Amino acid sequence: MSTANKTSKKIVIAIDGFSSCGKSTFAKAIAARLGYIFIDTGAMYRAVTLYALQQGAIRSGIVDEDAVVALLGDVEITFRFNPKRGASDIYVNGDLAEDKIRSIEVSNCVSGVSSIREVREKLVAMQQQMGRDRGVVMDGRDIGTVVFPDAELKIYMTADARVRAERRYAELKAKGDDVTLDEILENVISRDNADMTRTISPLRRADDAVELDNSYMSVEEQMAWFMERYEQVINE
Ligand code: C5P
Repeated sequence: MSTANKTSKKIVIAIDGFSSCGKSTFAKAIAARLGYIFIDTGAMYRAVTLYALQQGAIRSGIVDEDAVVALLGDVEITFRFNPKRGASDIYVNGDLAEDKIRSIEVSNCVSGVSSIREVREKLVAMQQQMGRDRGVVMDGRDIGTVVFPDAELKIYMTADARVRAERRYAELKAKGDDVTLDEILENVISRDNADMTRTISPLRRADDAVELDNSYMSVEEQMAWFMERYEQVINE
């Protein structure tokens, strides 16, 4: 392939893995480096969860699946690029929801919502539509297995659960949230279990994915690791 073709070749980069292992930070940095669009699919499941909480379809942490399915037609998720963050903010029915979707309340309920078939069907279709022209970095749990099984580059990210909980704790504390490290660790472990054991699209490593354990890697080291693989794929 000629050099001109190589630089203009746009691919889909699928990043899957456990909760809070830095997938979004990594995906965002890759997108900025390549001039690609970054799509945080976890934010979309969180957005539906937030809406379900607001509408009373989740009470005392119990997800009423039928009620969530009934309100799916009313929830409109949109993204708008925020130059300050260098990424898109998520809006639920026109309201900025970027901060609200990261609360511990949403984190505690999201697995119950993301395991509903109709929720997955709606969001997967949206994700496929957003990546139809390629040139995207998408992070989630099922991107390399279900959303884009034909993605040219698939990365499966892992990191030690305690390291992940500490990172998330620091993030939430910096925002002023009143949380404990134990509470976060419990949430991280229970979400991993729920995501891996659900019947529909469980979290699993695609056969052709390359694994990245970033427990003790800096962002720069991860980027160097990525660029090597990216160059290989683009030069194929
Ligand atoms: O990535 P994040 O931790 O924000 O995702 C929140 C939740 O959304 C996950 O715990 C998982 O239940 C769900 N999710 C999913 N499929 C995706 C992305 C996220 O089921 N592609």
